[in-house]
Amino acid sequence: MDTPDRAADAGRFAALTVPVHHASTLTFATTSAFLGRRSQLFDGYSYGLYGTPTTRALEDMVATIEGGSRSIAVPSGLAAVTGPLLALLRAGDQVLVADCVYGSTRDFCTEILQAMGISVAFFPSDADSIAGLLTPATRLVLLETPGYYTMELQDIDAIAREAHAAGALVMADNSYGFGLSNLFAHGVDIVASALSKYGSGHSDLCMGSITVADDALFRRIKLGVTRLGIGIAADDAYLVIRSLQTLSVRLAEHGRRTEPVVAWLAQRPEVAAVLYPHSVGPQRDRHARFFRGGHGLLAVRLRQASLARVSAMLDSMQVFRIGASWGGVHSLIAPFDLSTARRTASARQEGWLLRLHVGLEPLDSLLADLDAGFARLNASS
Ligand SMILES: *Cc1c(COP(=O)(O)O)cnc(C)c1O
Repeated sequence: MDTPDRAADAGRFAALTVPVHHASTLTFATTSAFLGRRSQLFDGYSYGLYGTPTTRALEDMVATIEGGSRSIAVPSGLAAVTGPLLALLRAGDQVLVADCVYGSTRDFCTEILQAMGISVAFFPSDADSIAGLLTPATRLVLLETPGYYTMELQDIDAIAREAHAAGALVMADNSYGFGLSNLFAHGVDIVASALSKYGSGHSDLCMGSITVADDALFRRIKLGVTRLGIGIAADDAYLVIRSLQTLSVRLAEHGRRTEPVVAWLAQRPEVAAVLYPHSVGPQRDRHARFFRGGHGLLAVRLRQASLARVSAMLDSMQVFRIGASWGGVHSLIAPFDLSTARRTASARQEGWLLRLHVGLEPLDSLLADLDAGFARLNASS
């Protein structure tokens, strides 16, 4: 082990933090270094948009957390999903998409990819096989497990085996499991995560990451993302670097606080089902296979709710705030119309779902807020 040379250390500036580099222009010592700057795209520095020591430090931390070798930081979780799709797919290709994906991912596939001549087919959210859908044109399978709002899990190992045998890549939106998983160990080739959630942890920025475990794939995606002209801001990179240092303790604490909320909700007559696959329901084993724990995100399917009743409940909440996204310190609640959730006909659902994020407020204030909310829901018609 290195022992610091304490005498030589005197007067040295030795902060524990990563410096924040703001840069567009980078200068070069020689004409030939300038003309050859494109060779620096993947590992060195050529232009502020394409990487700085700050963004590279963040990308290295993210790659380690996800269990991959290289990451690319992008301005949103959505861009982490759309970037690889744009980089890797061409007209005539087919992409298979889990039916439960994030709504904007679904819209990107049906509006942008299809207009580019890429065909899109959806498969059931709890699938353990996609064999019947794979064709010679299938280039990529997009998973999101557990799914957005409805929390079903696909069998990643089984689907990845089938996809690879057919020559297709597997990408997973791991916004839920960031910091709790290594999806590469289950056969995923590309892991896309929204760092806007627990990765940043304070509801104050949007960012996403694309992580791979294969250098050739890294180069293809990095080149594609470079062509799109997107990158992240230095100060946002710094904020995420700071938050990642407490990621594991925040995840564990949100998970610890969520268990009693889940148990309380499971007793409520208004609740048809609590969707918290870490500790409740038939997919617990599948969850345990992919994720080391739970955190603060859960949903409940309501019995006999209408928009009027849901509004009566939510509009007067005191602690839970109405809002999308999650992963910060605040408790959030968001209504979701299940009839809009599915593409595959057999999976059509009706009714209302509430998604909750359990923040760091005292437990008794959270339960009192929910209790008063259910009283309003029941009193409304
Ligand atoms: C939040 C989220 C996104 C989008 O992330 P943004 O940073 O808000 O664009 C994508 N997928 C999933 C599963 C998410 O939870």
